[in-house]
Amino acid sequence: IANALAIQLNKIEAEKIKRVINATGVVIHTNLGRAPLSARAVERILQAAANCNLEYDLSTGKRGRRGAAAEKLVAELCKAEDALIVNNCAAANLLVLSTLAGGREVIVSRGELVEIGGDFRIPDVLAQSGAKLREVGTTNRTKISDFEKAIGAETAAILRVHQSNFRIEGFSSLPSVSETARLAKKYGLPLLWDAGSGALLDLAEYGISDEPRIAEIIEGGADIVTFSGDKLLGGPQAGLIVGKADLIGKIRRNPLYRAVRADKLTYAALEGTLFSYQFETAIEEIPALRAIALEPWEIDSRAESLIKRLKDKSSEFLSHKIEIRTKKGASAIGGGAAPTVRLETTLIAIKTPEINADSLLSELRKHDPPVIARIEDDEVVLDLRTVNKEDDRLVENAVFEIVSKAEVLTRP
Ligand SMILES: *Cc1c(COP(=O)(O)O)cnc(C)c1O
Repeated sequence: IANALAIQLNKIEAEKIKRVINATGVVIHTNLGRAPLSARAVERILQAAANCNLEYDLSTGKRGRRGAAAEKLVAELCKAEDALIVNNCAAANLLVLSTLAGGREVIVSRGELVEIGGDFRIPDVLAQSGAKLREVGTTNRTKISDFEKAIGAETAAILRVHQSNFRIEGFSSLPSVSETARLAKKYGLPLLWDAGSGALLDLAEYGISDEPRIAEIIEGGADIVTFSGDKLLGGPQAGLIVGKADLIGKIRRNPLYRAVRADKLTYAALEGTLFSYQFETAIEEIPALRAIALEPWEIDSRAESLIKRLKDKSSEFLSHKIEIRTKKGASAIGGGAAPTVRLETTLIAIKTPEINADSLLSELRKHDPPVIARIEDDEVVLDLRTVNKEDDRLVENAVFEIVSKAEVLTRP
């Protein structure tokens, strides 16, 4: 009975939401809670956790608009007329399509009928919203004339979708934002743009050049743009809808909005995250952007000092029993953004005769706090790009404790 109880309790313990250290090098790791929040966002969440002015206007003492501050900030940063915040980008698309295209046709390129993962598929979301999918073009090429030929009495909107987690290379093309916007305007149709990852900054200098800024898509003439709060934006899970005020108004009045609206913690965390953009301190303050912007030499020097500290601490036996060294490697963006981008990094590679790579990986996972690493060429590798600098010590302690324990266990 005692054993059975212990097993159950351990299971409950392991399933509880707890903080883990992401040493995978995947910046926006979907399984690890996507974007880690900034200190500013966390501070705002603490404010909102108590009673707060979610729907209360402190100047008049009357009912106020939910999420007004965050929505104004989003609109401003995206150079859009208005904004609406919901639970996630899937909900945003569902709400937009059901409001503006329910029962009628939406034209989508065959090259953009994407699956994001976790069962999010554009054709399914369209079907769920009540809109009818009208596919045009081919997998690799869609011309503006393909869109134009499909426009008819049944057409409600043109939908463009960011390809997110894949790229078609070679003989491929799609019309630009402004070309598509001109066509939509000519026929009086709304141009809807599912941008997915939601970059607010130009990240080209960090090697990410295929993630257009939301403001650029708005400037290009899209009427409604939807994107996630917890991908490249670096905030909480949320779906952001920005664009024309009259359309946003309609979307806000859809009864479905009530079912997919965000909660107070989301608004608070978004406010905190967006303030960093407004203060132009996003790269320093938002962990996902900070990780992307880290220079390879910084990661290299942190990895080298971690190894040095480990070797100093563990004197003779560890240096015999554990082979720990740095090697060149690559970090990824993750979260369905910039799938072809590889950021140069330095990995810490660990090998021990006592513990094989799988067991070491699992020991790291069972550590408190869990350290999530990966295996490359039969070695456990840790990438400090996605670890907070202040947490290097925790990684070091985890490795030290696990390897020391193994030494004790195997000592004759
Ligand atoms: C990620 C993504 C979504 C889904 O966003 P969630 O916030 O995870 O619901 C929708 N569309 C695109 C293009 C995406 O990349």
